[in-house]
Parts: sequence; C-alpha cells; structure tokens
Amino acid sequence: GLSAEAYRRRHEISVIGANVPNPFVTFNSTCFPSEILRELHQAGFSAPTPIQAQSWPIALQNRDIIAVAKTGSGKTIGYLIPGFIHLKRLNNDVRMGPTVLVLSPTRELATQIHEEAVKFGKSSRISCACLYGGAPKGPQLRDIDRGVHVVVATPGRLNDILEMKRLHLDQVSYLVLDEADRMLDMGFEPQIRKIVKEIPTKRQTLMYTATWPKEVRKIASDLLVKPVQVNIGNVNE
Ligand code: ADP
Ligand code: MG
Repeated sequence: GLSAEAYRRRHEISVIGANVPNPFVTFNSTCFPSEILRELHQAGFSAPTPIQAQSWPIALQNRDIIAVAKTGSGKTIGYLIPGFIHLKRLNNDVRMGPTVLVLSPTRELATQIHEEAVKFGKSSRISCACLYGGAPKGPQLRDIDRGVHVVVATPGRLNDILEMKRLHLDQVSYLVLDEADRMLDMGFEPQIRKIVKEIPTKRQTLMYTATWPKEVRKIASDLLVKPVQVNIGNVNE
C-alpha cells in the first residue's frame, strides 16, 4: 500500500504536531462501528477525503485538532463521525444535556450539518437539535427538551437559549468550531467565548477553518490544548 508520507504528498496534506498518526486511506482501516461503515457505503462514498483520512485517526486519539481546508473537502463527517464514537464511548444521559456541540456561522450551514448528523447518526440512534436565529424558538426548545446527544447551533441563538436557562453545556466534552474564520468575520468572537465559558475545560476541541489569519490563530491558542494541525493544500493566511 501507499505509505503515509506518499499519501500525504499526493493529497497535499501537511501536519504539525508530535506523533501524528498515519492517515486512514480506506474506510475499512478506520475500524468504525459497522453501522457507520454501512452509512458511508450507502451514501455512495468510496474512500475518505484527505481531511477525513488524516483527521479521523487524530480525533480518535481524543486530541484537539486545527484543520485548515477549503470548502467541499468533507469536513462535516470529518468531525461528526469521531463525535459519534465519542458519544458511544461515554454513553451520557441526554437528560443532562448534549455531549457534542457544533458551532456554525449561519442558519444555512447549521441546517446542512444537522442533516448530515441525522443521516449518518440515525443508525447509531444519535439525536440532534439545530438552533439558529430568524426562526421561532418554540420548536427548537421542544427538540432540546426531548434530550439530544448533539446540538448544532449558531452562536447568537445558542446564547439566547443559554440565557433562558433552557440548555446546559456542562456535559459537553466534544466541541467543534466549524468555519471559525467566517464566525470571526461575522463578529461572533465574544459570543463564542461566552459559550465556551459554559463548557468544562476537560473536553476535546476541534476547529475547522478555510483560512489561517492571526485572529483565528489567537482564538485557537486560547481554546485548544496542544492541537495537531492538519493543512490541506496551500494554507492561505
Ligand atoms: P466542507 O465542510 O469541507 O465544505 P462537506 O462536509 O460539506 O465539506 O462535504 C462536501 C460534500 O462531499 C458533501 O456533499 C458530502 O456529503 C460529500 N462527502 C463527504 N465525504 C465524502 C467522501 N468520503 N466521499 C465522497 N463524498 C463525500
Ligand atoms: Mg463545512
């Protein structure tokens, strides 16, 4: 087979960090639970994308990750599937709040992430709520009240619901900041920092970004612990 180094070169993957595990070049090498492998097969996917191949083994080691990769590279299941495995291992009580939290800049992106979580999590009996502004809170609160493993949210609406004390984040131990650069461009940094204060520091944090400017580097250094960085292609600062 292709060596880890040859695979990284071919797919323009660069990694920064100590003892970075080899990429999972095939789905079978992931050792994901069979129901998840079945979903990937049913989706018609034939192999992990480069960001999935390199970030999955790192995420499964419970390490923090910074992933710099362009749109369309398959980041969503890149973080969702290790999140599902984290959920399975912890087996937390959903009545105590979500375990996985994904922050996303817009309603549209949050909805897409939620759809992927429902599609790939259904066979693992994973429940998920999606919280975003510009829509009534009632149905979102009802979803939360049913008890969910995963919350996908935009920062503004999540803070509104936290202020109402209708959701607690003290059981969250897997935090994803998706499209971090865009969230900062949209002015969400204070909202993100406020949310993170509600989450225990004993957690795994994964940050995804298309660009790597100093504002993103700063929030990464504040919120992540000894992250492994995975870059796909040229990192545009
Ligand atoms: P990103 O978040 O990096 O922009 P997405 O997670 O939205 O990318 O994925 C882009 C598209 O690629 C989606 O339609 C997704 O279902 C699909 N996709 C994800 N993983 C794979 C894969 N391993 N093989 C083929 N298509 C995939
Ligand atoms: Mg995305």
